[in-house]
Order: sequence, then structure tokens, then C-alpha cells
Amino acid sequence: MERRPDAPTSIAVLTSGGDAGGMNPAVRAVVRSALHHGIDVHAVLEGYVGLVEGGDLIRRYDSTHVGGILQRGGTVIGTARSTAFRTREGRRRAARNLVDRGIDGLVVIGGDGSLTGANLFREEWSELLAELVEAGELPRASAEAHRSLRLVGMVGSIDNDMFGTDMTIGADTALHRIMEALDALDSTASSHQRTFIVEVMGRHCGYLALMSSLASGANWVLIPERPPATDDWDQLMCSVLRAGRDSGRRRNLVVVAEGAQDRHGNPITVEDVRDSLARELGEDARITILGHVQRGGSPSAFDRYLSTALGNAAVERLLTDGPDAVPQLVGIRGNQIVSSPLMDCVAKTQDVAKRIEAQDLEGAMLLRGGSFRDSYQILVTMQQAAPRPTAAGRTRFRLAVVHGGGPAPGMNTVVRAAVRLTLDRGYTMLAVRNGFRGLRDGDVREVGWMDVSGYVSSGGAELGTNRYVPDRAAVAQIAEVIGAQRINGLLMAGGWAGYAAAHALHEQRHVHPALDIPIVCLPMTINNDLPATELTIGSDTALNSIVSDIDKIKQSAVASRRCFVVEVMGHDCGYLALMSGLASGAERLGLVIRSENADSVYSTGFIRALFEKEGGELWDSREAILGHIQEGGDPSPFDRIQATRLSARCIEFLAEQLESGTRASAMIGFQSGRLQFTDLTSYPSLIEPDAQRPLEQRWMARRPLARIMDVW
Ligand code: ADP
Repeated sequence: MERRPDAPTSIAVLTSGGDAGGMNPAVRAVVRSALHHGIDVHAVLEGYVGLVEGGDLIRRYDSTHVGGILQRGGTVIGTARSTAFRTREGRRRAARNLVDRGIDGLVVIGGDGSLTGANLFREEWSELLAELVEAGELPRASAEAHRSLRLVGMVGSIDNDMFGTDMTIGADTALHRIMEALDALDSTASSHQRTFIVEVMGRHCGYLALMSSLASGANWVLIPERPPATDDWDQLMCSVLRAGRDSGRRRNLVVVAEGAQDRHGNPITVEDVRDSLARELGEDARITILGHVQRGGSPSAFDRYLSTALGNAAVERLLTDGPDAVPQLVGIRGNQIVSSPLMDCVAKTQDVAKRIEAQDLEGAMLLRGGSFRDSYQILVTMQQAAPRPTAAGRTRFRLAVVHGGGPAPGMNTVVRAAVRLTLDRGYTMLAVRNGFRGLRDGDVREVGWMDVSGYVSSGGAELGTNRYVPDRAAVAQIAEVIGAQRINGLLMAGGWAGYAAAHALHEQRHVHPALDIPIVCLPMTINNDLPATELTIGSDTALNSIVSDIDKIKQSAVASRRCFVVEVMGHDCGYLALMSGLASGAERLGLVIRSENADSVYSTGFIRALFEKEGGELWDSREAILGHIQEGGDPSPFDRIQATRLSARCIEFLAEQLESGTRASAMIGFQSGRLQFTDLTSYPSLIEPDAQRPLEQRWMARRPLARIMDVW
């Protein structure tokens, strides 16, 4: 980072607009990062109210002020609506409050309204100071010392409706809350064979409704961007729900975004949905309006990491931008922290809302971006009660799905999507039980559409998985099974051993012609240690599980002056350790996170004993080995959504190979945040020869952030 000589020496941070999970980690990161760079930092309490009123509402912070807030929901520094800040007089008072304290850098965390207000404030800054000098309220020298206000914005909003970032701070946490509610409703709905109608937040943006539907296997969704195509939408919805019941589905779930509308722009409410279910199906459906529950609760692991990274990036921006630079919004694209001109992002965001209001829905959907549209398409297919009829004359290719490696949350989700999307193509789907051992032994059976209902949300692996890697003789047996079952393509959804096994088959395709089929590997492991991808499915669930355990351990550590050494999984890869350190704030309380294979001498027990001895009477120390808990648990919303998306792309890949007569094999993965396929042939050259990890590990670039946050 190249810091400018005229960079601010004192900055302030505030949260404004609706609260969102992750605002606290963002504030913490701004404070820690500013202190790391040797500048003063202030928190403005109660948003713009505090900025206008000043006094005790603008406080200088040190590191301890933001200790222990990482895991708290909402915003501890408060947020409020301020009418005074909408007036020039109010903004003049705000400017004076800042200059009086020597502050000329501001980080605002809020929605498009808050960011618009902040931008206006910055534009008026020099005029406001001139007016203050004129009125004798500010010494000329002070005004000259702070000629411009540096401003950086971060989006805190649960709706995920802002341009300039793939994810807003708080959206993932809101999805967690929604999923908890939908999972709970699911069990009661199935018990009584009921239909539940759930309203989720999102006036102009269907993100939460769409993604929670995808992640919960909802049977119908209504979002503002995609109103039903016809006026008799209620009859269509009811016929699909009825067909689901007829084919054995025990529950129906309809998700409605707050801003759902018909094709004329009239709102569609949960009551409308309930009435049509009563009319068409004679069903007594129950309504649940999730409301403010969606905003609350402890931030998810992703939101903690995201806001930590963004808070740090915001401070770095303030220190490197010139006095006249266009104010920026910091966000995440792919997995890169990026910045873009603040007001461009605000303008584009408001444009989508306007298009929705003006019924330009194609335009709105286009502006929402590719993954939103993909997810919508996948959802539409998955919601059907049965596959679409196959066109005459099409080959019914036979695909198989198999796991390999340790269990990873999301395996069932992958299987569900793979089965349905394969059947919908008119192909046959075979499921292999017990991994490659099962494939060797011919433990393969055909699966149907309804065999996988309920799979979307369950942890573990219904098909079974293990770390068996076939030797040459076993590969020959597998070739026989593949030939006998007439398997044309294979999806391997699994971890380290699964990749090794898939590659072993691929390597022997010249020896056994039955193995000359397209194979695609889908990365699933909590360890995030696979080649050709920056991220594996399952690791987000594991991180959330670790982080919630560490939250409890931290409380115990504070209460009892105890120091903890926590051992997390990861084999030879430190991803879970670094990320859980960042997301749980292993700081000052005597919390050490250690990756299981970090060092053969400095074991968890050794470090604990060292602390015990050296701590004397100051503290005592304990170890907590989190163990296999990390591999279990129902998949997080992110893992369910990505498992479904990746599974869809893998089936598409296999179908493309088969339809075009090619037989390439590949590993799917995220590269710079985008989905890419890498040739399976390159597998050996991408992994370390003596350790269980890939040669390239991009997440290692996050270590400096951990250092700044006092974690490393
Ligand atoms: P959000 O930031 O979530 O969109 P609001 O639109 O309610 O939330 O804005 C929060 C606060 O930001 C308002 O109470 C007001 O103080 C300030 N604000 C919003 N828009 C403007 C504006 N155009 N000019 C000045 N201040 C504004």
C-alpha cells in the first residue's frame, strides 16, 4: 500500500440505514486497520444523528472498544434515521463536528440512501467549511488544514441489492436466519402434510426469496423481478403443487418476496397465495411472515470475513486516494476485494428499482446479473413434480453419481440437483452407494425424481462416502461394472480421495475402453484443499460450525481467565484455521487456533502445556479439539446454493460431451470467483507431491489481513 503524504491522520466510521449482520465486524476492522496504520479513528454513534449532534456521540476508539463485538448482531454503535442530515444546516454542523476533531476521512456503512447522503456531504464539504468560517464558527486555519473529505462506502444491507459488490454485508446472515426458519417449518409441514407460505424481505429485490428457495427446495417462489407470465398464475401454481402432492410430496412450501407482483404491477401477497390454495386445492395453508427476525442474530462466518476484509480495504483506500479522487465503494467480486465509483453504483442500483416499478422486467433481470438468472432457471426445473417429457428420438444417456473422500456438507444437495437435472434431460440417473468401493462391487441403482426429495437440506451423505482409492485391479473391476451398467458419464462429488480415484479411472481409459467416458469432479470437502478451485463446497458450513463453537469457547475463556488452544481440521491445509481465526477474532483473550497438521512437534497438547506453565497463576489453559463435528451439520445456505449451481454445471458439461460425441474429463472449480473447468489430465501437476494440498492456494494472500487484525 502506497500511503499519500497528505493522507488523513484522523478518520471516523458510522453505520446508517437499516441494520445488517456484519456491521460490527466492519466497524472493528476499520478501527483495527486504522490503528495498524497509525492514524486516529473515531466511531460516530447513532449514524447521521451522531454526526450532526457531535459531542459524546463522536468518540475516539482504541482496539479495546471493538473487542468482543465481532460475533454480535446488529450494530453496537447504533444507527438512526436523521432528518437533520437531509438539511444543509445539519450537514454544516456535521462538518464542524468533524473538523473540530481533526477528522477528514469518513467510512460510511449503509444502504443507497446513506451513501447518497454521504456523497452529497463530501461534495458540499468545502462550501460548508467556508460558511462556517464566514459565520465565525471555525478558524480559517482549521478549514485550510482539512480542505477535502475523503469518503469510502461499504454496503450494509440484507437485500443484496447493490451494484459494486456481489454480496452486501448482511445478506448471507439474513439467508442463515431464513434457512433456519424454513428448515424448522419444513419438518412441521411434512408431519402434517401442510402447505406453508413464507414471506421474506425484499421490496425491490428477490435475492433472499430466490436463494432461500433454491437452498430449501421450496416448491414455488414469487419475486419482483419475474412476475408470473400469465394472469391465471394462481391456477398454474396450484396445478404444480397438486402434481407434487400426487407424486408423493408430503409438504409444499411457497416463498413470497415482499415486493412480489403480477405482470401488471399489482402486488401479490401471502394472503393472495393462501386464498388461491384454498380455492383451487381446498388446502388450509399457513402463513409465516419472517419480518425482522431476518435482520437479527450473530453474523455468519462469511459476513464476518467479508466485512473484515472490506473494513480494511476502506481504510487503505482513504490513505491512498488523493483529495479530489472520486469516492469509492468497496465490495467483493468473485473473491476479490474491489472498489468502484460510489455514485455509479448507487445510480445503477436505483435504476433497477425504477425499472421494476416501470415494469421493465427483462431489463431489471439483465441488470441483476448472470448468477441470479442461472439460479432462477435451475429453481424452475427443480420445482417440477416430475421431469419434462423427453423429445422423441433422443438418446437416453446413462449418468452415474458417486462420492469419494470424507463426508462434506452439501453432498446430498449435489445429488438431488444432479438427479433431477439429469432426469429432466430425458437421461437415466444411477446412484453409486459407498463411493468407489461400491462402484467396484456393483452397488449401483437407478434413482427417480422423488427419491431425492428432502435431500437439499440434510447433512452427511445418503449415498455413503469413504476414502477408498482403487488400485489397478480394482480399476479393472470398476471398468467391468461401468460397462455392464452402460454408464456413459460419471459425476464424482467429493474430496481428496475422490479426486485421486476419478483420476485413476481416467488414466486407465486406454487400457479399459469402458472407462473412456467423460468424468467430472465436483469439489466437496470442508478442508478446501483441492486442486483447480479456490473454494470447495462444505467449507462454509464447517467454518460456520467452528465459528459458533469458538464463540462459546471465547465466552468461557473470558469468564474464567482461561486460555484455549483450539484445534481445527484441515489435514495439510490451513484454510479453516486462518479463516476461522479471522471470522472468530482469535485475539487477546488467549485464544489460539491450530490446524491439525500444522507442526509435528508443536502439537495442540504441547502448546497448551507451554501456556499452562508460562501462565503461572495468571491464567490456566485448556485445549479443545473440535473433531468430526466440523464435518457434520446441515449445509449452510451458501453451500446449498453453490452445490446446486455446480451440480447443474457438471451435468451440463457431461451432457455437452455426450451430445457432441467428445469425452473430455474435467474438474469444476472457482477461479477468480468464476466457475471454470480444468482438464482432469492435469490433476497430478496441480497437487503437492508430499502433502495433501494443491500447489496454488490463493487464500494464502489473506494472511496480511489476519496480521492487521491481530490474528496472525
Ligand atoms: P439506507 O441507507 O438503508 O438506504 P435510508 O434511505 O433510510 O437508509 O437513509 C439513512 C439516512 O441517510 C437518512 O435517515 C438520512 O439521514 C441519510 N440520507 C438518505 N438519503 C439522503 C440524501 N439524499 N441526502 C442526505 N441525507 C440522506
